[in-house]
Amino acid sequence: MWKCSVCGYVFEGVEAPDKCPKCGAPKEKFTKLGEEEKLITRSRLTNSLHIEAFTLLQRLLEIAEKGIQDNLDPPCVKIFSEEKEFAITTMQKIKAELETHMKKGKWG
Ligand SMILES: [Zn+2]
Repeated sequence: MWKCSVCGYVFEGVEAPDKCPKCGAPKEKFTKLGEEEKLITRSRLTNSLHIEAFTLLQRLLEIAEKGIQDNLDPPCVKIFSEEKEFAITTMQKIKAELETHMKKGKWG
């Protein structure tokens, strides 16, 4: 794995690319990853699962907001309100966790 020192793009290959696909920096700006590579590889599944769950929670939030708006009866609104709260709180937890991963090199 190679990392662009300008923008952080991670490239997988025997050699660094001629130029960075993201920022266009030349080959010389790429550095070969050592130990960091293991951390990136190990964390990929969990990071993908967090992103997938985040997408589902966004959908849940939309559904909950529609249900609150429909306002059929108080028990239904209560359930939708709890769903909304759960979705928002969990999405914020996921964002905080992914930020931690990025800072610790568990990203790429
Ligand atoms: Zn770059």
